[in-house]
Amino acid sequence: MKYRYGLEEKKERRLWFVRLVRRLAIFGLVFIMFYTLFLYTGGRPHISEESLKALSFIPLEKTYQLESSKDIKEVRLYAEQEGQRKELYGAKLPEPSRVVSFVLKPREAGLKDGVTKLFLEVSSGPLLKRTYELQATVDTVPPRLNIIAYTQYTQLGGSFAIKVKTEDGALVSLFHGEHVYSLYPLGDGYYFGIVPVRLDGGEIQSFRVEASDTAGNKSSQNIHLKVKQVRFKEDHISIGDSFVSKVIYPLLGKEGSGLTPLEAFKRVNEVWRARDIRRIEEMGKKSEPKVLWDGAFLQLPNSKVFAGYGEIRHYFYEGQKVSESRHMGFDFASLERTPVPAGNSGLVVFAGDLGIYGNTVIIDHGMGLMSLYGHLSEIRVKEGQFVKKGESIGRSGATGLALGDHLHFGILVQGYETNPIEWLDPKWIKNNILAVLEA
Ligand SMILES: [Zn+2]
Repeated sequence: MKYRYGLEEKKERRLWFVRLVRRLAIFGLVFIMFYTLFLYTGGRPHISEESLKALSFIPLEKTYQLESSKDIKEVRLYAEQEGQRKELYGAKLPEPSRVVSFVLKPREAGLKDGVTKLFLEVSSGPLLKRTYELQATVDTVPPRLNIIAYTQYTQLGGSFAIKVKTEDGALVSLFHGEHVYSLYPLGDGYYFGIVPVRLDGGEIQSFRVEASDTAGNKSSQNIHLKVKQVRFKEDHISIGDSFVSKVIYPLLGKEGSGLTPLEAFKRVNEVWRARDIRRIEEMGKKSEPKVLWDGAFLQLPNSKVFAGYGEIRHYFYEGQKVSESRHMGFDFASLERTPVPAGNSGLVVFAGDLGIYGNTVIIDHGMGLMSLYGHLSEIRVKEGQFVKKGESIGRSGATGLALGDHLHFGILVQGYETNPIEWLDPKWIKNNILAVLEA
Protein backbone atom coordinates (compact mmCIF):
# COMPACT_ATOMS: atom_id res chain seq x y z
CA MET A 1 0.00 0.00 0.00
CA LYS A 2 2.85 2.30 0.89
CA TYR A 3 4.34 1.78 -2.55
CA ARG A 4 1.09 2.72 -4.35
CA TYR A 5 0.78 5.88 -2.30
CA GLY A 6 4.33 6.84 -3.38
CA LEU A 7 3.40 6.43 -7.04
CA GLU A 8 0.29 8.63 -6.64
CA GLU A 9 2.38 11.32 -4.93
CA LYS A 10 4.92 11.36 -7.75
CA LYS A 11 2.15 11.57 -10.35
CA GLU A 12 0.55 14.50 -8.52
CA ARG A 13 3.87 16.33 -8.19
CA ARG A 14 4.48 15.94 -11.90
CA LEU A 15 0.98 17.25 -12.70
CA TRP A 16 1.55 20.20 -10.39
CA PHE A 17 4.82 20.97 -12.20
CA VAL A 18 3.15 20.80 -15.64
CA ARG A 19 0.43 23.19 -14.43
CA LEU A 20 3.05 25.63 -13.18
CA VAL A 21 4.90 25.60 -16.52
CA ARG A 22 1.64 26.01 -18.37
CA ARG A 23 0.65 28.97 -16.19
CA LEU A 24 4.05 30.61 -16.64
CA ALA A 25 3.78 30.13 -20.40
CA ILE A 26 0.34 31.78 -20.45
CA PHE A 27 1.59 34.68 -18.32
CA GLY A 28 4.57 35.08 -20.59
CA LEU A 29 2.44 35.07 -23.72
CA VAL A 30 0.01 37.63 -22.29
CA PHE A 31 2.96 39.78 -21.26
CA ILE A 32 4.52 39.61 -24.73
CA MET A 33 1.15 40.41 -26.32
CA PHE A 34 0.66 43.48 -24.11
CA TYR A 35 4.23 44.57 -24.63
CA THR A 36 3.87 44.27 -28.41
CA LEU A 37 0.58 46.17 -28.25
CA PHE A 38 2.31 48.87 -26.21
CA LEU A 39 5.15 49.11 -28.73
CA TYR A 40 2.77 49.40 -31.66
CA THR A 41 0.37 51.90 -30.15
CA GLY A 42 1.51 54.11 -27.28
CA GLY A 43 5.11 53.34 -27.92
CA ARG A 44 5.38 54.77 -31.41
CA PRO A 45 5.61 58.50 -32.08
CA HIS A 46 2.51 60.42 -33.23
CA ILE A 47 2.96 63.48 -35.43
CA SER A 48 0.48 66.32 -34.82
CA GLU A 49 -2.32 66.87 -37.36
CA GLU A 50 -1.12 70.40 -37.93
CA SER A 51 2.41 69.32 -38.83
CA LEU A 52 1.03 66.78 -41.30
CA LYS A 53 -1.35 69.35 -42.81
CA ALA A 54 1.50 71.78 -43.38
CA LEU A 55 3.10 69.17 -45.62
CA SER A 56 0.20 69.27 -48.08
CA PHE A 57 1.80 72.21 -49.91
CA ILE A 58 5.46 72.38 -50.88
CA PRO A 59 6.66 75.74 -52.25
CA LEU A 60 10.08 76.55 -53.70
CA GLU A 61 11.61 76.67 -50.25
CA LYS A 62 9.99 76.34 -46.86
CA THR A 63 10.86 75.41 -43.30
CA TYR A 64 8.65 72.73 -41.77
CA GLN A 65 8.25 71.68 -38.20
CA LEU A 66 7.19 68.25 -37.02
CA GLU A 67 5.66 68.05 -33.58
CA SER A 68 5.72 64.56 -32.14
CA SER A 69 4.02 62.95 -29.13
CA LYS A 70 7.41 61.60 -28.04
CA ASP A 71 11.10 62.08 -28.76
CA ILE A 72 12.08 61.29 -32.34
CA LYS A 73 15.47 59.83 -33.21
CA GLU A 74 15.17 59.58 -36.95
CA VAL A 75 13.11 61.19 -39.72
CA ARG A 76 12.86 60.24 -43.39
CA LEU A 77 10.64 61.92 -45.93
CA TYR A 78 10.18 60.45 -49.40
CA ALA A 79 8.21 61.70 -52.36
CA GLU A 80 6.81 59.43 -55.02
CA GLN A 81 6.16 60.92 -58.46
CA GLU A 82 5.55 58.89 -61.62
CA GLY A 83 6.51 55.71 -59.80
CA GLN A 84 9.88 57.08 -58.71
CA ARG A 85 10.78 57.47 -55.08
CA LYS A 86 13.04 60.37 -54.03
CA GLU A 87 14.29 61.27 -50.60
CA LEU A 88 13.31 64.85 -49.70
CA TYR A 89 14.78 64.81 -46.25
CA GLY A 90 16.46 62.34 -43.97
CA ALA A 91 18.32 62.67 -40.69
CA LYS A 92 19.34 60.83 -37.57
CA LEU A 93 19.02 63.36 -34.79
CA PRO A 94 22.07 63.81 -32.56
CA GLU A 95 19.68 64.59 -29.68
CA PRO A 96 16.22 62.93 -29.66
CA SER A 97 13.58 65.67 -29.79
CA ARG A 98 9.82 66.20 -29.90
CA VAL A 99 10.17 69.01 -32.43
CA VAL A 100 12.09 68.58 -35.67
CA SER A 101 12.67 71.42 -38.14
CA PHE A 102 13.84 71.00 -41.69
CA VAL A 103 13.89 72.89 -44.97
CA LEU A 104 12.43 71.43 -48.15
CA LYS A 105 13.68 72.49 -51.56
CA PRO A 106 11.68 70.28 -53.91
CA ARG A 107 13.52 71.36 -57.08
CA GLU A 108 16.90 70.34 -55.66
CA ALA A 109 15.39 66.98 -54.77
CA GLY A 110 14.32 66.55 -58.41
CA LEU A 111 10.58 66.97 -57.85
CA LYS A 112 8.25 68.39 -60.46
CA ASP A 113 5.40 70.79 -59.84
CA GLY A 114 2.12 68.96 -59.33
CA VAL A 115 0.65 66.31 -57.10
CA THR A 116 2.93 63.92 -55.25
CA LYS A 117 2.66 61.13 -52.70
CA LEU A 118 4.69 61.61 -49.53
CA PHE A 119 5.92 58.98 -47.12
CA LEU A 120 6.96 60.30 -43.77
CA GLU A 121 8.83 57.88 -41.49
CA VAL A 122 9.49 58.85 -37.93
CA SER A 123 11.23 56.62 -35.48
CA SER A 124 11.73 56.76 -31.72
CA GLY A 125 13.90 53.63 -31.53
CA PRO A 126 13.95 49.95 -32.60
CA LEU A 127 10.40 48.73 -33.37
CA LEU A 128 9.09 52.24 -32.66
CA LYS A 129 8.69 53.47 -36.21
CA ARG A 130 5.58 55.00 -37.79
CA THR A 131 4.98 55.75 -41.45
CA TYR A 132 2.48 58.31 -42.73
CA GLU A 133 1.30 58.33 -46.31
CA LEU A 134 0.27 61.82 -47.43
CA GLN A 135 -0.79 63.73 -50.54
CA ALA A 136 0.95 66.97 -51.38
CA THR A 137 1.03 69.61 -54.09
CA VAL A 138 4.40 70.87 -55.22
CA ASP A 139 4.21 74.49 -56.45
CA THR A 140 7.54 76.22 -56.94
CA VAL A 141 6.34 79.13 -59.11
CA PRO A 142 5.98 82.37 -57.14
CA PRO A 143 2.84 84.43 -57.86
CA ARG A 144 3.20 87.21 -60.42
CA LEU A 145 2.77 90.67 -58.96
CA ASN A 146 2.25 93.96 -60.79
CA ILE A 147 1.60 97.34 -59.24
CA ILE A 148 -1.16 98.91 -61.34
CA ALA A 149 -1.45 102.31 -59.62
CA TYR A 150 -1.03 104.16 -56.35
CA THR A 151 -1.55 107.68 -55.06
CA GLN A 152 1.51 109.67 -56.12
CA TYR A 153 1.48 112.65 -53.77
CA THR A 154 0.57 112.23 -50.17
CA GLN A 155 0.82 114.24 -47.00
CA LEU A 156 1.83 113.36 -43.47
CA GLY A 157 -1.23 112.01 -41.66
CA GLY A 158 -3.09 111.48 -44.93
CA SER A 159 -4.27 108.39 -46.79
CA PHE A 160 -3.21 106.74 -50.01
CA ALA A 161 -4.62 104.03 -52.25
CA ILE A 162 -2.89 101.21 -54.09
CA LYS A 163 -4.05 98.69 -56.68
CA VAL A 164 -2.08 95.62 -57.70
CA LYS A 165 -2.63 92.58 -59.90
CA THR A 166 -1.44 89.09 -59.14
CA GLU A 167 -1.57 85.82 -60.94
CA ASP A 168 -1.90 82.80 -58.67
CA GLY A 169 -1.73 85.07 -55.59
CA ALA A 170 -4.02 84.16 -52.71
CA LEU A 171 -3.09 86.87 -50.23
CA VAL A 172 -1.70 90.36 -50.73
CA SER A 173 -0.38 92.49 -47.89
CA LEU A 174 1.46 95.76 -47.56
CA PHE A 175 4.30 96.10 -45.08
CA HIS A 176 5.55 99.35 -43.59
CA GLY A 177 8.08 98.86 -40.81
CA GLU A 178 6.29 96.91 -38.11
CA HIS A 179 2.86 97.60 -39.63
CA VAL A 180 0.97 95.24 -41.91
CA TYR A 181 -1.99 96.41 -44.00
CA SER A 182 -4.57 94.44 -45.95
CA LEU A 183 -5.33 94.70 -49.62
CA TYR A 184 -8.81 93.55 -50.59
CA PRO A 185 -9.59 91.33 -53.59
CA LEU A 186 -11.53 92.99 -56.43
CA GLY A 187 -11.72 89.83 -58.54
CA ASP A 188 -9.64 88.64 -61.53
CA GLY A 189 -6.47 88.84 -59.42
CA TYR A 190 -6.83 92.56 -58.67
CA TYR A 191 -6.32 93.83 -55.13
CA PHE A 192 -7.00 97.28 -53.69
CA GLY A 193 -6.18 98.92 -50.39
CA ILE A 194 -6.31 102.25 -48.59
CA VAL A 195 -3.35 102.85 -46.33
CA PRO A 196 -2.54 105.50 -43.71
CA VAL A 197 0.54 107.72 -43.98
CA ARG A 198 1.45 107.73 -40.32
CA LEU A 199 2.50 110.89 -38.57
CA ASP A 200 5.86 109.43 -37.50
CA GLY A 201 7.23 108.94 -41.04
CA GLY A 202 9.67 110.96 -43.13
CA GLU A 203 9.64 112.60 -46.56
CA ILE A 204 10.13 109.36 -48.46
CA GLN A 205 8.28 106.39 -47.06
CA SER A 206 8.83 102.86 -48.33
CA PHE A 207 6.21 100.17 -48.46
CA ARG A 208 6.59 96.56 -49.53
CA VAL A 209 3.73 94.82 -51.36
CA GLU A 210 3.84 91.07 -50.91
CA ALA A 211 1.74 88.43 -52.64
CA SER A 212 1.72 84.84 -51.42
CA ASP A 213 0.13 81.84 -53.09
CA THR A 214 -1.59 78.89 -51.44
CA ALA A 215 1.64 76.90 -51.31
CA GLY A 216 3.47 79.75 -49.59
CA ASN A 217 5.60 81.13 -52.45
CA LYS A 218 6.07 84.88 -52.16
CA SER A 219 6.74 87.78 -54.52
CA SER A 220 7.26 91.34 -53.45
CA GLN A 221 7.78 94.84 -54.79
CA ASN A 222 8.64 98.10 -53.10
CA ILE A 223 7.06 101.49 -53.54
CA HIS A 224 8.50 104.75 -52.29
CA LEU A 225 5.98 107.45 -51.45
CA LYS A 226 6.73 111.12 -51.64
CA VAL A 227 5.19 112.55 -48.49
CA LYS A 228 4.53 116.25 -48.04
CA GLN A 229 5.64 117.29 -44.60
CA VAL A 230 3.14 119.22 -42.52
CA ARG A 231 3.74 121.45 -39.52
CA PHE A 232 1.01 120.89 -37.00
CA LYS A 233 -0.28 123.41 -34.50
CA GLU A 234 1.08 123.07 -30.98
CA ASP A 235 -0.94 124.01 -27.92
CA HIS A 236 0.06 124.55 -24.32
CA ILE A 237 -2.69 123.56 -21.95
CA SER A 238 -2.70 124.08 -18.20
CA ILE A 239 -4.33 121.36 -16.16
CA GLY A 240 -6.03 122.67 -13.03
CA ASP A 241 -7.48 120.73 -10.11
CA SER A 242 -10.98 121.94 -10.99
CA PHE A 243 -10.71 120.35 -14.47
CA VAL A 244 -9.49 117.12 -12.90
CA SER A 245 -12.39 116.99 -10.42
CA LYS A 246 -14.95 117.97 -13.04
CA VAL A 247 -13.83 115.68 -15.89
CA ILE A 248 -11.06 113.24 -14.91
CA TYR A 249 -12.24 111.75 -11.59
CA PRO A 250 -15.82 111.13 -12.84
CA LEU A 251 -14.34 109.47 -15.91
CA LEU A 252 -12.04 107.21 -13.87
CA GLY A 253 -14.71 106.21 -11.31
CA LYS A 254 -13.29 103.69 -8.82
CA GLU A 255 -10.02 103.57 -10.74
CA GLY A 256 -9.34 107.14 -9.64
CA SER A 257 -9.50 106.52 -5.90
CA GLY A 258 -6.16 107.12 -4.23
CA LEU A 259 -4.71 108.97 -7.25
CA THR A 260 -3.50 112.56 -6.96
CA PRO A 261 -4.98 114.96 -9.54
CA LEU A 262 -1.80 114.72 -11.60
CA GLU A 263 -1.72 110.91 -11.44
CA ALA A 264 -5.41 110.80 -12.36
CA PHE A 265 -4.86 113.05 -15.37
CA LYS A 266 -1.89 111.01 -16.56
CA ARG A 267 -3.85 107.77 -16.11
CA VAL A 268 -6.53 109.02 -18.51
CA ASN A 269 -4.32 110.91 -20.94
CA GLU A 270 -1.65 108.22 -21.24
CA VAL A 271 -2.87 104.80 -20.06
CA TRP A 272 -6.47 105.13 -21.24
CA ARG A 273 -5.51 106.89 -24.47
CA ALA A 274 -3.04 104.14 -25.43
CA ARG A 275 -5.59 101.45 -24.54
CA ASP A 276 -8.38 103.11 -26.56
CA ILE A 277 -6.11 103.62 -29.58
CA ARG A 278 -5.27 99.89 -29.45
CA ARG A 279 -8.99 99.01 -29.29
CA ILE A 280 -9.72 101.22 -32.30
CA GLU A 281 -6.79 99.72 -34.19
CA GLU A 282 -8.12 96.20 -33.57
CA MET A 283 -11.64 97.16 -34.72
CA GLY A 284 -10.24 98.96 -37.75
CA LYS A 285 -8.73 95.76 -39.09
CA LYS A 286 -12.09 94.02 -39.55
CA SER A 287 -13.54 95.82 -42.52
CA GLU A 288 -15.94 94.66 -45.23
CA PRO A 289 -14.07 93.74 -48.43
CA LYS A 290 -16.19 96.08 -50.58
CA VAL A 291 -16.85 99.79 -51.03
CA LEU A 292 -19.88 100.82 -48.96
CA TRP A 293 -19.23 104.58 -48.99
CA ASP A 294 -20.59 106.92 -51.61
CA GLY A 295 -18.75 110.14 -52.46
CA ALA A 296 -17.33 112.60 -49.95
CA PHE A 297 -18.01 112.49 -46.22
CA LEU A 298 -20.41 114.95 -44.58
CA GLN A 299 -19.23 117.47 -42.05
CA LEU A 300 -21.45 118.04 -39.02
CA PRO A 301 -24.05 120.56 -40.36
CA ASN A 302 -23.70 124.19 -39.24
CA SER A 303 -20.51 123.48 -37.37
CA LYS A 304 -17.09 125.03 -36.97
CA VAL A 305 -13.84 123.13 -36.69
CA PHE A 306 -12.34 124.15 -33.38
CA ALA A 307 -9.56 121.56 -33.18
CA GLY A 308 -7.76 120.19 -36.21
CA TYR A 309 -5.98 116.98 -37.07
CA GLY A 310 -2.47 116.27 -35.85
CA GLU A 311 -2.40 119.07 -33.26
CA ILE A 312 0.18 118.49 -30.57
CA ARG A 313 -0.92 119.27 -27.03
CA HIS A 314 1.57 119.94 -24.25
CA TYR A 315 0.03 119.69 -20.82
CA PHE A 316 1.28 121.71 -17.84
CA TYR A 317 0.51 121.18 -14.18
CA GLU A 318 1.70 123.76 -11.66
CA GLY A 319 3.97 125.27 -14.31
CA GLN A 320 5.68 121.97 -15.25
CA LYS A 321 5.15 120.04 -18.46
CA VAL A 322 3.63 116.74 -17.37
CA SER A 323 2.17 115.07 -20.46
CA GLU A 324 1.53 115.28 -24.18
CA SER A 325 -1.00 114.10 -26.75
CA ARG A 326 -1.83 114.21 -30.41
CA HIS A 327 -5.28 115.16 -31.64
CA MET A 328 -6.16 112.56 -34.27
CA GLY A 329 -9.40 113.93 -35.72
CA PHE A 330 -11.57 117.01 -36.16
CA ASP A 331 -13.56 118.60 -33.37
CA PHE A 332 -16.78 120.03 -34.75
CA ALA A 333 -18.75 122.41 -32.56
CA SER A 334 -22.37 123.31 -33.16
CA LEU A 335 -25.41 123.63 -30.92
CA GLU A 336 -25.52 121.45 -27.81
CA ARG A 337 -26.96 117.98 -28.35
CA THR A 338 -27.09 118.56 -32.09
CA PRO A 339 -28.12 115.54 -34.23
CA VAL A 340 -25.06 113.80 -35.71
CA PRO A 341 -25.45 112.37 -39.23
CA ALA A 342 -23.49 109.38 -40.51
CA GLY A 343 -20.66 110.89 -42.56
CA ASN A 344 -21.18 108.22 -45.15
CA SER A 345 -23.00 104.93 -45.73
CA GLY A 346 -21.74 101.84 -43.96
CA LEU A 347 -22.11 99.25 -41.25
CA VAL A 348 -22.06 100.20 -37.55
CA VAL A 349 -19.24 98.15 -36.02
CA PHE A 350 -19.17 99.82 -32.62
CA ALA A 351 -21.75 101.69 -30.56
CA GLY A 352 -20.92 102.21 -26.90
CA ASP A 353 -18.46 103.56 -24.35
CA LEU A 354 -14.92 103.96 -25.66
CA GLY A 355 -12.90 105.45 -22.77
CA ILE A 356 -11.52 108.89 -23.61
CA TYR A 357 -13.78 109.06 -26.69
CA GLY A 358 -16.85 108.66 -24.45
CA ASN A 359 -20.03 107.36 -26.12
CA THR A 360 -18.81 106.46 -29.56
CA VAL A 361 -20.10 105.14 -32.88
CA ILE A 362 -17.75 103.61 -35.44
CA ILE A 363 -19.05 102.99 -38.97
CA ASP A 364 -17.27 100.67 -41.42
CA HIS A 365 -17.36 101.99 -44.99
CA GLY A 366 -15.49 98.99 -46.40
CA MET A 367 -12.00 98.39 -47.80
CA GLY A 368 -10.42 99.39 -44.47
CA LEU A 369 -12.13 102.81 -44.27
CA MET A 370 -14.16 103.72 -41.16
CA SER A 371 -15.44 106.86 -39.45
CA LEU A 372 -15.61 107.54 -35.72
CA TYR A 373 -18.00 109.81 -33.79
CA GLY A 374 -16.93 110.55 -30.22
CA HIS A 375 -18.23 112.30 -27.06
CA LEU A 376 -21.89 111.65 -27.98
CA SER A 377 -24.61 112.37 -25.41
CA GLU A 378 -26.91 109.88 -27.11
CA ILE A 379 -26.44 106.89 -29.45
CA ARG A 380 -29.28 105.95 -31.79
CA VAL A 381 -27.79 103.02 -33.70
CA LYS A 382 -26.81 99.46 -32.89
CA GLU A 383 -23.82 97.37 -33.88
CA GLY A 384 -24.51 95.43 -37.08
CA GLN A 385 -26.95 98.07 -38.37
CA PHE A 386 -26.48 99.50 -41.87
CA VAL A 387 -26.74 103.31 -41.99
CA LYS A 388 -27.10 105.60 -44.96
CA LYS A 389 -25.08 108.76 -45.47
CA GLY A 390 -26.79 111.58 -43.58
CA GLU A 391 -28.88 109.31 -41.35
CA SER A 392 -28.86 110.43 -37.72
CA ILE A 393 -26.75 108.17 -35.48
CA GLY A 394 -27.03 110.15 -32.22
CA ARG A 395 -26.48 113.55 -30.62
CA SER A 396 -23.33 115.50 -29.80
CA GLY A 397 -22.23 115.73 -26.19
CA ALA A 398 -19.28 115.91 -23.81
CA THR A 399 -18.81 112.30 -22.68
CA GLY A 400 -15.28 110.93 -22.28
CA LEU A 401 -12.29 113.28 -22.18
CA ALA A 402 -14.11 116.46 -23.28
CA LEU A 403 -14.71 119.86 -21.80
CA GLY A 404 -17.69 121.17 -23.73
CA ASP A 405 -20.29 119.76 -26.12
CA HIS A 406 -18.66 118.87 -29.46
CA LEU A 407 -18.25 116.04 -31.93
CA HIS A 408 -14.90 114.31 -32.36
CA PHE A 409 -14.92 113.12 -35.97
CA GLY A 410 -12.24 110.64 -36.95
CA ILE A 411 -11.42 108.87 -40.20
CA LEU A 412 -9.88 105.46 -39.59
CA VAL A 413 -7.78 103.90 -42.30
CA GLN A 414 -6.97 100.30 -41.35
CA GLY A 415 -7.48 101.30 -37.73
CA TYR A 416 -5.29 104.43 -37.77
CA GLU A 417 -6.87 107.89 -37.47
CA THR A 418 -5.85 109.86 -40.56
CA ASN A 419 -6.59 113.44 -41.59
CA PRO A 420 -10.36 113.71 -42.24
CA ILE A 421 -9.90 116.80 -44.44
CA GLU A 422 -9.10 114.64 -47.47
CA TRP A 423 -12.28 112.61 -47.05
CA LEU A 424 -14.48 115.73 -46.85
CA ASP A 425 -13.22 116.75 -50.32
CA PRO A 426 -14.92 115.03 -53.30
CA LYS A 427 -12.16 116.14 -55.68
CA TRP A 428 -9.43 114.64 -53.52
CA ILE A 429 -11.33 111.34 -53.27
CA LYS A 430 -11.84 111.28 -57.05
CA ASN A 431 -8.20 112.01 -57.91
CA ASN A 432 -6.44 110.02 -55.24
CA ILE A 433 -8.69 107.10 -54.31
CA LEU A 434 -11.21 106.45 -57.09
CA ALA A 435 -8.64 107.08 -59.84
CA VAL A 436 -6.50 104.30 -58.33
CA LEU A 437 -9.47 101.98 -57.75
CA GLU A 438 -10.60 102.38 -61.36
CA ALA A 439 -7.11 102.23 -62.90
ZN1 LIG B 1 -11.35 115.56 -30.66
